Amino acid sequence: MPESEYEIEIFRAQGFRRLQCASCGKFFWTLGDHSICGERPCQEYDFIGNSPFKKSLTVRAMREDFISFMEANGHTRVRRYPIVARWREDVFFTQASVYPFQPWVISGEASPPANPLVISQPCVRFVDIDNVGKTGQHFTLFEMMAHHAFNFPGKPIYWKDRTVELCHRFLVERLGMDPGLVRYKESWWQGGGNSGPCLEVVFGGAEAGTLVFMQYRDTNGHRVPMETTVVDTGYGLERLVWLSQGTTSAYEAVFGDALAYLKRATGAKKVDTRVLTEYSKVAGMFDVETAADVRAIRAKTAARLGIPVEELVAQLAPLEALYVICDHSRALMFLLGDGVVPSNSREGYFARLLIRRGLRTLRNLNITYSMADTISFLIDQNREDYPELFFNKGDILKLLKVEEQRYRDTLEKGRGTVQRLEERVRAAGGQSIGLGALIELYDSHGLTPDVVKEFATLGVEVPDDFSVPSPPRGRSGLSFRRTSRQPDCGCTRTGGSRSSARRSSPSTEAPSSWTRRSSIRRGAGRRRTAARSAGGMSWTCSGSGTSSSTS
Ligand SMILES: [Zn+2]
Repeated sequence: MPESEYEIEIFRAQGFRRLQCASCGKFFWTLGDHSICGERPCQEYDFIGNSPFKKSLTVRAMREDFISFMEANGHTRVRRYPIVARWREDVFFTQASVYPFQPWVISGEASPPANPLVISQPCVRFVDIDNVGKTGQHFTLFEMMAHHAFNFPGKPIYWKDRTVELCHRFLVERLGMDPGLVRYKESWWQGGGNSGPCLEVVFGGAEAGTLVFMQYRDTNGHRVPMETTVVDTGYGLERLVWLSQGTTSAYEAVFGDALAYLKRATGAKKVDTRVLTEYSKVAGMFDVETAADVRAIRAKTAARLGIPVEELVAQLAPLEALYVICDHSRALMFLLGDGVVPSNSREGYFARLLIRRGLRTLRNLNITYSMADTISFLIDQNREDYPELFFNKGDILKLLKVEEQRYRDTLEKGRGTVQRLEERVRAAGGQSIGLGALIELYDSHGLTPDVVKEFATLGVEVPDDFSVPSPPRGRSGLSFRRTSRQPDCGCTRTGGSRSSARRSSPSTEAPSSWTRRSSIRRGAGRRRTAARSAGGMSWTCSGSGTSSSTS
């Protein structure tokens, strides 16, 4: 990354200094006096119980603060796009605020709905699903707030200076932050065949946003300047709300009322604030990828607190379960509301995964409570911001009911299947259910390792770095594969969870087999769909070929 990419006039004009982190060596711009870059692995969170903002904001208030600030500064407010990226062939879901504009707007084939624009786009990523609830900060669904400017040839809107100015003024003027606290860390972004310099917006020990300047097309290892350059910002709504409330975890800040409702309904015990605070601080220093990382976080936190790991886990487990239920319910609210039908393939597969994980979590809590209760609560709570979900509430709850019954049926059959397998394993002199058997149980019977564990009397071997199965390819094709340590696919920016930002979900990319099929089905309506979506006219403008239910 050439140094000149970050020589931004506003930095010089306002007296920012370019400093180098004494710990990791990375460069950053700041008005303050800092020896380190202010982020993992160089600094722990210091905002818990100590918000850097003057005011404590709810999700709704933060979203409105951001959007109205950008509106007052020349941006047009644009409604969210569907969570299912039906206008794209390479991914199932909208995973960043810029996805709705790729590829048609950026290629110049469709016009943006406004320019510049401001949006708060719900995004969903499944790569960190196993960490949800356990790290204090990972979500499957998050909102990426953004101001975008599309600089078409001969029609420039704004570029680096104005972008940094807007970000800095929002933090200082609207949120009342000390201007010396923020650090703009130099970094490089690449994704989807494009790349460019970016600035990570860091304070409180956390990254709250990223300002990306998309300006190159990467072809055959060469960087070619793009005709249309794009200001692609991303501010993590959940992260900013957490920073503003300074709570012990992002879930406490984001799920507020829904969580309180669940805590009351389940009679959850209160966990010591010191325990939760230390846990979040330790977790914030980890780039969590596997179950082994989560174990390491627990061990380190327990050591800091001077208590046995078992005691820490016993305290945290019920609360983590409630976080999972809130997270999965919120993601499902959007998935089902936007027309996804739970199934064994494509988008439907992920809806089924969320529902079953949620139901399993509820079973482990040993309470009579359904996912539908939380989702119904969330839909009502979000009625004003997302009226389309309220409009679809009846259908959403109906789908849930059907899927819950299917799950109960699967469990009923699963119990017998696992028992028969164990008899075979014992007869062969085996002591445990191995990976091969687990894959077979999933492929042939739809039984996940967690369900197998529930019924097994023998040990079950699930390797740490084996996680959520990849989406099905072809008829059965389901197999367990590593979600960790996969090559970085390059979608490296978000203001949300940094970990998920690093690794855009490989498992939500469309398998090539359906891409070819669907391009035949969907080709004709594709561009029209994007344009209609861009006009904000329709939430279900999917045309054909979506949400196939092949189960
Ligand atoms: Zn550093």
